[in-house]
Amino acid sequence: MTRVLAYSDESIAEAARLIAAGQPVAVPTETVYGLAGDATSDASVAAIYAAKGRPSFNPLIVHVRDLAHARTLAVFDADAEKLAAAHWPGPLTLVLPVRGDAGLAKAVTAGLPTVAIRVPAHRAMQSLLAATGKPLAAPSANASGGISPTRAEHVLRSLGGRIPMAIDDGATSGGIESTIVAVGDGQVRLLRPGPVVIDDAVANSKAKIEAPGQLAAHYAPAKRLRIDAQTANVDEWHIGFGSIPGDATLSATGSLSEAASRLFDMLHQADTQHRPRIAIAPVPDTGIGMAINDRLRRAAVGSGGRA
Ligand code: AMP
Ligand code: MG
Repeated sequence: MTRVLAYSDESIAEAARLIAAGQPVAVPTETVYGLAGDATSDASVAAIYAAKGRPSFNPLIVHVRDLAHARTLAVFDADAEKLAAAHWPGPLTLVLPVRGDAGLAKAVTAGLPTVAIRVPAHRAMQSLLAATGKPLAAPSANASGGISPTRAEHVLRSLGGRIPMAIDDGATSGGIESTIVAVGDGQVRLLRPGPVVIDDAVANSKAKIEAPGQLAAHYAPAKRLRIDAQTANVDEWHIGFGSIPGDATLSATGSLSEAASRLFDMLHQADTQHRPRIAIAPVPDTGIGMAINDRLRRAAVGSGGRA
């Protein structure tokens, strides 16, 4: 049984107790709901991987209260300091050299010499960080390979019965996973596009190093998904955008930030419709649209696996 408690001082205190006992708890951030555990505890981190069915070569993002705490875990060069100052708290994850004395569980970094760190802005995750006093490892709160959750009900659909508790604080505002940037050796490399748009002037290396676990097939709905669909076939649930109305729309006004915040909810919703397939209208490949299209391409590749 998974308990769902509304965000409050009491539910955060209960979540902190569970985490201290090594149990993972689902909690909203400004991007998607995360499955949080103590990043310094091997047992806690193992419980996250087990609940998600996540392969252990795929490292976790560590969430901390502030930049000062982040500096105790990783080495910040001038580029990293600048990015953190500009975007934290917020939906930017920095992959940095891990400090020898960071004290993180080995599985968090999957044995890499780097660690992925972020300072989240959401009140629930911030309160949980304060209540636990720990760095919290928190991947998206869904079974590995599934669509990321932007509502507590999505968490339940994917992980219900597998975790003790989820904190419900409504739909997340951003809706798409954080931007991931690797910084070090005077280089800034974009590993995953996201809400923070990193332009080519900042990402000074075109070297395509892939983040481990960034599989081509990811974020996949159970049904077959067709992208760039101006029109839909009779057996397809059509997700529209802008002037293409569809059966439901990412954004009737053509707003890319609204589309990002609604994307995963629309995919979850499409999975529950009677029509056996999904089609989705084209989304412009600019700004956060690049992150939307990145997720849609991965969703299309992996889709239909569980249909
Ligand atoms: P998720 O927590 O599901 O949003 O996924 C986090 C992603 O962060 C993983 O899939 C990795 O690709 C990436 N990541 C985490 N740690 C590292 C690291 N040390 N180096 C490169 N990528 C990382
Ligand atoms: Mg994920």
